[in-house]
Amino acid sequence: MQMRKKYAVSALLLLTLCGCGADPAAQEAKSLDLFAMDTYMNLKAYGSHADAALKASADRITELEKLLSVTDAGSEIYAANHADGAAVGISPDTETVLDMAAKVYAESRGALNIAMYPVLQAWGFTTGAYQVPDGEQIAALLAETDFLQVTVRDSKLTVPAGMQIDLGALAKGYAGECVMECMRENGVKSAIISLGGNVQAIGSKPDGSAWKVGITNPFLPDENLGILQVTDSAVITSGNYERYFEGDDGQRYWHILDPADGFPADNGIVSATVIGANGLYCDALSTALFVEGADRAAAHWRAAQDFQAVLVTEDARILITAGIQDGFENLTEMPVEVIAP
Ligand code: ADP
Ligand code: MG
Repeated sequence: MQMRKKYAVSALLLLTLCGCGADPAAQEAKSLDLFAMDTYMNLKAYGSHADAALKASADRITELEKLLSVTDAGSEIYAANHADGAAVGISPDTETVLDMAAKVYAESRGALNIAMYPVLQAWGFTTGAYQVPDGEQIAALLAETDFLQVTVRDSKLTVPAGMQIDLGALAKGYAGECVMECMRENGVKSAIISLGGNVQAIGSKPDGSAWKVGITNPFLPDENLGILQVTDSAVITSGNYERYFEGDDGQRYWHILDPADGFPADNGIVSATVIGANGLYCDALSTALFVEGADRAAAHWRAAQDFQAVLVTEDARILITAGIQDGFENLTEMPVEVIAP
């Protein structure tokens, strides 16, 4: 439970070139590790354009972090949070992320709510000074989390005085999406990236086979629960094991809050993985489904039909949406139940 300050550390680059034996150039992986957006990232690209693509991708991540960070006093989000209700100009990047936050807020009936930031602060999730706030304090803070009061008009963002937003639930997904774009622009046809465990892949492996992506076992986070075979997809997980603390009562309190009561979302799901074409959407959804719980998440999937999901319940069942069942290998004894359309 180390202290992790959101997005505080600027990108730290470490370029490692790892040739893969005697394979031709097209089969060689070029790999880049960096720390940004408060998480370790690894980018891997294949082919002769890989070096340029990795460099461009790292620059793009650094640029996005500067715009989207909630703690960096130079960011657009910080400016809007500290403008006392005045409208603040925002870039197309920030607007894209805010649009997605609004879309998934509506789809999930408020389960994803980026205006929960003051409540996250009260729990200490933003600084690592963890504590269980008292009920009155949470109730008072919850009164200032009506996301519909946050508006974007003419590329200007208004966060009402007394409110604050944070894009932690979807910024990494957007960064991944932008990296994919950088790679494609640079002519890369095969790449895989992990942004703190959130995976996004371009194409297939250089040999033409599907990428194999492990899904963490939330009960044993050092092990995989299963393997997914994907091409051209994002695989993004929200789990109760990622960032949490134990209270004096011995209970575990984690970093995804239920906007309904301001407490860590405890609706029967311990991890939610979302698979889809768009990393930004998948990241927003992973947080939303985690909060919604199994029944609402299943209904959400049936209504949207534009993503797939693997949910793990607190009573150790794996729920998987019908569209991905063929690509999933269960590595555990847990039963798998298919969510039908
Ligand atoms: P991670 O960032 O660990 O991969 P998520 O994508 O689920 O996991 O994002 C969790 C982050 O989202 C939290 O750290 C917090 O900043 C923010 N958050 C927590 N609860 C909510 C919520 N209900 N709606 C929107 N954002 C939330
Ligand atoms: Mg998320």
